[in-house]
Order: sequence, then C-alpha cells, then structure tokens
Amino acid sequence: MRWAPFPEEKLARLPASVVLADRHGEPLRVRLGAGGLDCRPGYQPEPEHWIAQALVAAEDRRFWTHPGVDGLALARAIGQNLFFGRRISGASTLSTQVIRMMEPRDRTLSTKVIEAFRALQLERRHGKREILAQYLDRAPFGGNIVGIEAAARRYFGKGAGQLSLAEAALLAGVPQSPARGRPDRHPARAKRRQAYVLERMEACGFITAREREDAFAQPLEARPGNYPFRAPHFCDLVGVPARAAEGATVRTTLDSEVQRLAEGVLRRRLSGGAAEGGAIVVLDVKTGAVRALVGSPDYRARRAGQVNGAMAPRAAGSTLKPFAYALAFDRGLVTPATMLADVPMRFRDFDPRNFSLDFRGWVSVRDALVLSLNLPAIDIERRVGQERFHGALRALGLSTVSRPAEHYGLGLVLGNAEVRLLDLANAYACLARGGAWAPVRVVESPDPPVWKPMFSSEACWLVSDVLGGEERAMDTTGHAVDVRLPPMAWKTGTSAGLRDAWTVAWNPDIVVGVWVGNPDGSSADELVGRKIATPIAWDLFRRMYPDNHGPWHARPAGVVSCTVCAASGRAPGPNCPHRIEDWSIAKVSRHEPCPVHRQGAEGAWPVAVASFLNRRAAPEPEEAPAESVRIRTPARGSAYRWMPELEVDAQRLALEAASDRAGETLHWFVDDRPVGKSRPGEPLFWPLERGTHQIVCSSARGPSDRVQIAVE
Ligand SMILES: [Zn+2]
Repeated sequence: MRWAPFPEEKLARLPASVVLADRHGEPLRVRLGAGGLDCRPGYQPEPEHWIAQALVAAEDRRFWTHPGVDGLALARAIGQNLFFGRRISGASTLSTQVIRMMEPRDRTLSTKVIEAFRALQLERRHGKREILAQYLDRAPFGGNIVGIEAAARRYFGKGAGQLSLAEAALLAGVPQSPARGRPDRHPARAKRRQAYVLERMEACGFITAREREDAFAQPLEARPGNYPFRAPHFCDLVGVPARAAEGATVRTTLDSEVQRLAEGVLRRRLSGGAAEGGAIVVLDVKTGAVRALVGSPDYRARRAGQVNGAMAPRAAGSTLKPFAYALAFDRGLVTPATMLADVPMRFRDFDPRNFSLDFRGWVSVRDALVLSLNLPAIDIERRVGQERFHGALRALGLSTVSRPAEHYGLGLVLGNAEVRLLDLANAYACLARGGAWAPVRVVESPDPPVWKPMFSSEACWLVSDVLGGEERAMDTTGHAVDVRLPPMAWKTGTSAGLRDAWTVAWNPDIVVGVWVGNPDGSSADELVGRKIATPIAWDLFRRMYPDNHGPWHARPAGVVSCTVCAASGRAPGPNCPHRIEDWSIAKVSRHEPCPVHRQGAEGAWPVAVASFLNRRAAPEPEEAPAESVRIRTPARGSAYRWMPELEVDAQRLALEAASDRAGETLHWFVDDRPVGKSRPGEPLFWPLERGTHQIVCSSARGPSDRVQIAVE
C-alpha cells in the first residue's frame, strides 16, 4: 500500500525552537524554530498531570484503552456522514489527531480511513504516553505558540507539568480553535472552553464537582510575555550548539537563583559609578560548573553593556601569587612561618615596590601572602623557578598568559600578564578542590570531569588556611562584630595604574570571582581590589550563606604540626629563644636549621634584613638639625643580597634623603663617584654592586650625610 510503512521521519519533524535552560530546566533563552514558531518539545506527560487529564477528558475519553481508533465513535461518525452527507465530525482520537497534524489532508471519508490505519500503526509502534506527548508537542495554542510546553511557559511562566487544574483546563480548550480561543485575546471564549473541559473532567471522574467549581472560580491572567532573555552573557558564551537537534533543550550549568543574586549584587555595588564595567563568576568547586556569570552591570547599557567582562583579558595584579606559594609549599621550600626578606630594591623592567610603599624587612610567608607583598612574592617565584611558575599558570587554563616565560620575567608573579576572570576563577577552583584541575563546564553532563593533578591537597589547604578563616576576616574588618562572614578565603588584586580591581573568594563548595574596571581600560582611584571588588565578593557570599554558616576545608592528614624558631621560621636549635607551632607537609617540607641562632654565631641574620631589624629596634633618630641633609634610605649599615641570576643593572637600590630645604638639588656619590641627582623625598635608583660602599648625599649649600652599606 502506498501509505505504508509508517513515516517515522514526519513524526520527528517539528518546527522546534532550541531552548537554553538553567540546571533546573528554567528557560534562559529561546531560538525560535522554523517559521518563527515557539515550539519547545520534550514534555513527558504523566497520567496524573492535570494537562494530561484535561486533554484526555476533552478530546478522547477512552484514550488510555482504545487501540488508536475509537470504534464506537468512528461507527457513529461514519453513520452520520453517510446519512447527512456532510463533512464528518467527531470520532477523532488523540492518535488520529497526531496523524492529522503530521500529514494534513482534506477531511474526506477516505482520509478518515487512512488516518485510522495510520493511528493503528502509531499505537503499535509507540506507546500511549508517546502519542500523548506527540499531541502536546504539536497542538497549536495561538499566535506562534506550538505545543503545551511553550504555551505553559508563555501564558503562565511555568512548565507543562506544573500547570494547576484551572490552568490546564484553560489551555486544553485552546487547540480546537487556537485563533478564536486564545486566552489572552478572547478571555471570555477561553473561559467557556475551560468550563466545558472541567465538566468533561468531572464526567470522566477525574475531579469532583467541588474541584471543578474551585478551578472555575480561580481568576487566571494569561499573558504571553516576552521570550526569556536571562543571563545574557552566559547564553552568548554557551551559544546554541551547532549540532543541537531541533527542539533540544540544552541544559546548562547555570543556577538562575545564584545568577539573580550575582546580578543584583553587582548592579547595586556599582550603581555609584565607581566603574563602568564589572563582572562576577560563580563556579561549583566539585565539577567546575559555571553557576553564575555576569559580564557587566547592565547588559542593555548602551556603551559597554555587551562587553563581557568575565571573558576580557585584563592585567592580573596580585591574583597569581597564591599559585606561586602553592608550588613553593609543594616543593618543600617554605612553610607558612618561614621568614622572607622584604627590602627595597628595584628591577629594571618594573618597580616591584609593595603596593603600600612600606617595606617590612622580614616577614613570614603567611604575612607576605596575606599582605600581598611584592618582594617576597618575587623571592618565592625565584625559588620555585619562573619558568615552572609560568608553566603552571598555563596548565591551570590561563590561556591568555600566552607569551613565553621570558617575556614576562619576574614580574609574572606580580601580575604583568593578562587573564580572564572565568579562567582565573577556575584556576582558584583547582586550589579550592585540593589541586585537581579541569576545564569549566557550561552544559550539564553526566560524565565526571577528567582531572589533571596540579597541586597536592596539602599545599592547597595551606594556601586556603593562610588566606582564609575568621582571624583574617577580623583583621580586615577590624572588629569581630563586623565579620559576619561565612568561612571563606580570598585574594585581592589591583593592576598597575589602578585599572583593574580583582577579588577571588572561595570555600570548599564555590568560587566567586569578581573583576571591576572600565571596559576602555581607563584608570580610577577606586579601582583597588580590596576597596571595590572584595565587598562585592563578600556581599555575594553572605547572600549565598544567609546564616553565615558555610563549609570549610578539612585539614588533610599530610599537613602536620611542627615547631619552628619564631624568628626564622626554621627548625629550632638549642640557641633559639622562642618557638612557635607551624604547619608543614609531612615528608615534603624541608626543615632547615635556624640560620639566625646558630651555635657560636651571634645574631647572624640574613644580611639583607639585619639593618631593618636594627633600625626598628633603635630609637627614632632625633630631628635633623637645621641646615642639614640626612640620608633616609639606605639605612646606615644596611646589607643587601646580590641576585646573581639577574643582570647587573636589573637590581637597583633606592637612595633617598631628607633636607630642611624642600626642592633643593641633592647630589649623590658612591665611593666618591657621582651617581646622580635627586630632590628631598624623591628616590634615585643606583645599580647594586658587590662590596662595601660609602654613599654620600650633599647639597650645594654644603651640608651632607654619609652611610656605609654592604652588598653580599
Ligand atoms: Zn632561631
């Protein structure tokens, strides 16, 4: 026969839209199907859903039991047709209606026979539920709305399975005359159809008279709202997959609730106009799934709204430092109490003065990382190896760190490379989950991520411990009562020239990445990480953990307590006067003996810091007498360490003097050779040379000052 076999391909053909949905199925964006139709197939009807009951009652009450053709109804219809000689009506089962929607034909008696045959075929090949689903996917609901899912979403803002009895009864009445029965344009007619459907439902025994009355009395507002347009930067990023089957719902990883919180926080915090651009990324630590991505405070803003700040490469500032410290922990080079030198020095291609312009002389790894000191970070980077550090950043997915290691030099740890917020947040997710890295996910997948080991869980814990905890929050806010924060760790960053402000915060479950800046790269005094980006991250954390209780990292068994000399952070000897407890990594951390309190050697501090300690211990020098010049740096008797790896003129020392006469010219001499001129309070940089040096500063008026320093 010419109509056999069953045309399966027509059954699969729908004018389907592609829907990007969040992880709970909430539509984020719809790409309309062929002909501009809004058709969102895929709803799986359950017999107990109201829409399934309403439809069966209204259209085909014996649906669940007949073989595809309702013999009784068909016989009656054919009889009427022969007798009255007019177009037949009735006798349609849901199955024959599916056939008719699949292959529209003129309504003649022979058509009726073909459709009956096809309906029997359909029943044999597919189950009842599949037929019901087919009907619900194809039925017209007015305008460009095809199928119950699109209808339920557009008219009532919910999924077909969530429709109430009143809503389901209203919509079940529409497909018979979708143009005249549209509930938004012709509410009275739709209401009459609803009453009919409810009566049928009661007659079928699906509902009681009371339920029917209650449902009918319920006021309904059916308005086909706008198409969903949520999380726009995220949807732009996901895109509609090129090979997405028509009608596919792409289940993304986004969590609409988290997205809504992030959008609100960013908009409120930047409403003061501190910066035009800002972005937030929230990642799920366990899977790397993107739960929220806000690329700008207002997508619809004319100038910069569409620029996705989460994907723009921007200077990293101090945000890369924790990875250098994690590598140092893993290589056993330092523990949190290890003391590092923090002394003034200048390198040729950049000025690594600490952001506060206040050198501390001798600081622990813990303080150096918390305070984000630059010179100790360079020290760590040198010990780890700049190339190794560079390779680690690349392996962590920071693909915009695309130049070779030597291009960045030691400035890499200070953030002279550009990173994208999404990549950066994912690199921190690696730390938060204990050292395993995988790419971010934007589409839900049942497959577990393929992990790449980057750090030990012990090193990650040390970083989180240093950068987290209530103590740190208290330090930052000043008062315990101001903390009101769930447990979290965070790192800030500010790019050179105040162009980018960063904060990445994390706990074992989520990473929150924040960038604030101007899309055109212009600078602003407000663009300091801890001033503008940190409050955004904290605000979001507080909203995600409203009671301030949240998870925290469990200490891995490999992190063990050890006793160290309080002064050096190294293994104490018999002469070490004060000891403290520190964390170390079992079988990894090296326990070098304390170099400060060695037997027989008195006060053998590393020369680079000895002078700082002396200067701190000594009382402040008295005010310089009138008509005088006084050298403020270097301090008398300072000692510096020469770094043999660096070029000769790459290491320079700041020379600075005070004078009672502001603005006068000061002349500098080293070992009686003139090296340059400066003004009071302004530094002059002198390339370090090994040996002992006499440094003289003198004014043309006569007064001068002299210090001696040593370069080891
Ligand atoms: Zn000691």
